[in-house]
Amino acid sequence: MDNPDFINQLRKENELLKLQLQELENLERQHKLSEEELRNTTGRLKKIFDAAPDAILIMDVNGTFIQINKIVENILGYNKQDIVGKNFFEMTLLTDVDQNKVKEGVQKSLKGEKFGPVEISYKSRSGEYMYSELSTYPIKFDDRSLILMVVRDVTLQKKTARIIQENEQRLSLHINQTPLGVIEWDLNFKVKRWNPAAERIFGYTKKEVLGENVRCILTPETYKKVKILWDDILSSDSGKRYINENVTKSGETILCEWFNTRLVNKHNKVVAVASWVQDITERVRAERIKKVLYDISNAVNTTDNLHKLIGFIQTELSNIIDTTNFYIALYNETNDTFTLPFFVDEKDQFTEIPAGKTLTKYVVKKQKPILADTRLMSELELQGEIESVGADSKIWLGVPLKTEGKVTGVLVVQSYTDENAFNSSDVQMLEFVSDQISISINRKKTEDELVAALKKAEESDKLKTAFLQNMSHEIRTPMSGILGFTTLLKESGKISDRQLEYLRIIEKSGERMLNTINDLMDISKVEAGQMDVETREIHVNELIDYIQTFFYPEAKQKGLDISNEKGLENSDSIIISDKEKLYAILTNLVKNAIKYTEKGSVNFGYVAKGNYLEFFVKDSGIGIPKQELDTIFDRFVQVHHNLSSKYEGSGLGLSITKAYVEMLGGNIRVESQSGKGSQFYFEIPIKKGENIAIKAEPKPEEKIQKTEEKQQLKILIAEDDETIRKYLSIVVRKISTEVLFAKNGIKTVEISKNNPDIDLILMDIKMPGMDGYEATRKIREFNKNVVIVAQTAFAFESEHEKAEAAGCNDYISKPINRNSLINIIGKYFNQQN
Ligand code: ADP
Repeated sequence: MDNPDFINQLRKENELLKLQLQELENLERQHKLSEEELRNTTGRLKKIFDAAPDAILIMDVNGTFIQINKIVENILGYNKQDIVGKNFFEMTLLTDVDQNKVKEGVQKSLKGEKFGPVEISYKSRSGEYMYSELSTYPIKFDDRSLILMVVRDVTLQKKTARIIQENEQRLSLHINQTPLGVIEWDLNFKVKRWNPAAERIFGYTKKEVLGENVRCILTPETYKKVKILWDDILSSDSGKRYINENVTKSGETILCEWFNTRLVNKHNKVVAVASWVQDITERVRAERIKKVLYDISNAVNTTDNLHKLIGFIQTELSNIIDTTNFYIALYNETNDTFTLPFFVDEKDQFTEIPAGKTLTKYVVKKQKPILADTRLMSELELQGEIESVGADSKIWLGVPLKTEGKVTGVLVVQSYTDENAFNSSDVQMLEFVSDQISISINRKKTEDELVAALKKAEESDKLKTAFLQNMSHEIRTPMSGILGFTTLLKESGKISDRQLEYLRIIEKSGERMLNTINDLMDISKVEAGQMDVETREIHVNELIDYIQTFFYPEAKQKGLDISNEKGLENSDSIIISDKEKLYAILTNLVKNAIKYTEKGSVNFGYVAKGNYLEFFVKDSGIGIPKQELDTIFDRFVQVHHNLSSKYEGSGLGLSITKAYVEMLGGNIRVESQSGKGSQFYFEIPIKKGENIAIKAEPKPEEKIQKTEEKQQLKILIAEDDETIRKYLSIVVRKISTEVLFAKNGIKTVEISKNNPDIDLILMDIKMPGMDGYEATRKIREFNKNVVIVAQTAFAFESEHEKAEAAGCNDYISKPINRNSLINIIGKYFNQQN
């Protein structure tokens, strides 16, 4: 059995088997490897398949999906189960049209052709419309014909493109529809873009202007500076704003506001200039008009008179219209004339013209603005509507100025050189401002008239005051002579009883005349508003006593009882009021009470009532009839004078009394019964005076006694009236050692200087040349001690203040009563010694 061949054979076979086995193992290993490789490769392919950015769908020739990649889910919103195994043709993924496109693709792919890409749209699962590009490819897989469908999502690109397109459309709409002119220039100032608004502003169509130089829309002035502006725009990052004058195709000059900016490409190179422009002519004009209106309305308060106001109006209007030849004519209907408070004209000069048949009058007649060129003027002339007045103008524009619908004036501008100086828009504008101009002119006119009236009133007031002062002086001075010498005559002792009686009559008549004059002066002053209230402390009880003493002799003489009542203790009876007026009020009432009472009594006084004192004056006289009680305080009313001539008077006393009471802040009333007597009441508010120690004034007789005892004064009588000089020298004879005389102010000062030992100067106020005030001031410069007593003949209280201010110690009113003068002198020389 040991057959070597067989063994060899076996060995060989064994070797072969080993080799085969090895081979097999190799093969198996190899197989394993390829299987793994295949697995690996398939996995990688799968990954690639799923990672592809486009949706990949594989369907069989019937349209049934057999494989899809992951992205399908993202793009279509469907997952594998929704699609794999489903037939495309049975799904309603795509619109009809797009379904057909896919069908077409499928069909082409079946024929071995590639299809696409075509655009398809479909609804995603979320209902959103999506856009994709579809391509189909025929493929063979394991001898099986399949269709590979690639879907690329282009929704975003699609939407972006649409937005860009919409934006572009919108932008172009903007450019076409904006009221701003939109212009683009190349770097040679030539028009590249020109929108419809630019057409409207400048009048050139796009066709006309494309490629044209900027010069076509510039005025020569603007053209001069355009190069500078251009450089400015090109060198600036931000836009530039300008306001320029431009010119339109028809040659009209307009004002434009420009916003310009350079356009730079992505390489930062300037490629063009873009401009936005708007015509602001009207806006600026409206603003100017508004300002003009505002300024004109304000000017009423800032200008002095009508002439200046109209001058101002002309200057203001020159901002909006040519006012080289300008006037305002105010129409006077009564005499059919025009006054021209302001007229600026190159050729004519008028201040008043008859209205006649002028163009200006034509405006008044028509009540509307007239813009007349030479043609219209000659037409109107031919029609007989107007007759030419003044130099011929090329164009004339008149606008009515109306007040309450009535034409009160005309505002006119005209040109002698330029027939186009004014147009219809000027007419509108002037018509628009004319209302404010009328209002302003009217206000100023009224103001001027008021000022003139006030000036006149002031002048006439001054005249009246001067007249009153003069009359007062002229009457009182001779009365001083008459009454003074009558007193002296009476006291001379060398006259018969009859002569004495005559002298009393002279005295009485003189006094009556003086009373009348005083009343007249007072009422005139009250009415002229020249009566001032001067408050000071008044000792009311003293005043009552004084009046009692004053009227006692008169009452006694008539057989009447006169008594008084005081409502306050002496120490409490100091009030602040106007002493002169309170005195005048009481005196008037007591005087009347005595006058209108024949028998019985007169009782007067006051009671204190809170913040006021109620004064009363009661009598048992003839009384006042009821029906007269209301009018008793009116001027010139006299109840009893027509009954009997025994009551004299002017009928002014009570009206003066009432005016005074009212000036003191009180009121007056009367109660009366005919035949039984009258009671007058008045109350005045009081401001209590400080608690001042009440000085008992020495009785007049005592003082005279003392002064007369002295008899050693050196007296200067300054007086221009000879009679008064004589009278005064007699009055002071007993109290003087030496009497000097001066007839005027200068002499008075001179004598005072030369005689420093003078004790007293009786200073007349109204003297020729230098008056008494001036002389007093001069004397006070070198002599502070001499007593100066002013003699005033003017019935004005202000005179007393003036006298005091000039340096006088005291004053005495003319006509000078002997006792009063002695009293005053006594006051000073008693005090000094
Ligand atoms: P006359 O100067 O006339 O007195 P008045 O203005 O003082 O003017 O008075 C006006 C009029 O009032 C007097 O005319 C008189 O008729 C009347 N009257 C004034 N006071 C009294 C009085 N006490 N009793 C009666 N009548 C009086």
